Amino acid sequence: MRKLAVILPFLLSLTVLAQERDLRIGIMRQRTISSLLVMSSRGNCTVYADGVRQGEIPLNDGLRIEATGRGLTAKSLKLNIAAKKRIEVVPRMAHSGVRLSLLGTKYPERSYPGAVEVQVSGGKLQLTNTAPLEAYTAGVVQAEAGKEHHAEYYKLQSVSCRTYALCNQRKHAGEGFALCDAVHCQVFHGICKQDSILQAVEATKGMVMVDPDIKMIHALFHSNCGGETVNAEDLWSKQEPYLRSTPDAYCLAAPHATWKKTLSKAEWLGYLERKFKVKDPAKQKALLNYEPMCRDLYLGNTFPHIPLKAVREDLKLNSTWFKISTTGDKVLLEGRGYGHGVGLCQEGSMRMAREGMNYLDILHHYYKDVHLMDVSSLEFFREEEPMPAIAGPSRK
Ligand SMILES: [Zn+2]
Ligand SMILES: [Zn+2]
Repeated sequence: MRKLAVILPFLLSLTVLAQERDLRIGIMRQRTISSLLVMSSRGNCTVYADGVRQGEIPLNDGLRIEATGRGLTAKSLKLNIAAKKRIEVVPRMAHSGVRLSLLGTKYPERSYPGAVEVQVSGGKLQLTNTAPLEAYTAGVVQAEAGKEHHAEYYKLQSVSCRTYALCNQRKHAGEGFALCDAVHCQVFHGICKQDSILQAVEATKGMVMVDPDIKMIHALFHSNCGGETVNAEDLWSKQEPYLRSTPDAYCLAAPHATWKKTLSKAEWLGYLERKFKVKDPAKQKALLNYEPMCRDLYLGNTFPHIPLKAVREDLKLNSTWFKISTTGDKVLLEGRGYGHGVGLCQEGSMRMAREGMNYLDILHHYYKDVHLMDVSSLEFFREEEPMPAIAGPSRK
């Protein structure tokens, strides 16, 4: 056990370091971009071409970047630059950022925190935003959680999105950035402008969730669990002690608590026969009227097993939890919940927050035996297994 007197100075210095942590986010990668206007959102920006400083663009100027056959060109009122591989625009002031406008499109201008790097590949521009962790977290909470929620809900979303980002920062390592800005990672449309979210991010600054071994957790969440969350091993094959099934009465009256889908008898039985070889009339009959006693993994008591995960995917159902009834030629599936059901139930936690529970109690309800920890302290306690370094242009 380390002595507190030794630990404290370390923690303090690491906390200072943590304030400068940046994440490289691949932005707008699904779009084909050949021309782009970059402007500063506050103060001057320094421009680099292939790592060499070229000059500055002031607040009232813009840098027009285009892909050419040989690389990139960039022009402003004063600068006229060519680069082989990349152009970086780095704000000089702290807490500043860039505004990006895709020329020749109706795509609205977006503001991003921190610097932007523009690379060229196959004649197309590829953008990477080097975003400070906290500004990134706020942007994700704004895009993922939506408006008009309780402060405690925004706090738990801040912790959850921050934990996810740091836990998954190797997801796009092969492509030269940490996370993308789409649902594949976490949706991120740039700077958050909502005060209530910014306050929640500040109130939980640097905080991530860890398990009893002080490892960051997979902070999974879903829209509505339907009344009971799912064990991790029922979704993946891997068990996680903090992702355990738990009852949840708070989401039962929420918008995504129930769902219905109607199919014809021929569609339903045809699907079961094609995919799972259910041909026996007695088995088919059993699957026309069926009600699970609890959340199941397999449909009915048939053999071979029919995994509900596959049925959900194939028929695009909101969840794997549903009962079946048949009237005439119509098969009615009546389901509960929306999403995979593992981890935090968003609609349940929204109601808990509205009813006065604080964000820590809500997180502990959905994630078993987890602790909150400042990410800088986490690195110190895990020095035998350090977190991967985050690449990014040094802030000037
Ligand atoms: Zn991704
Ligand atoms: Zn729920």
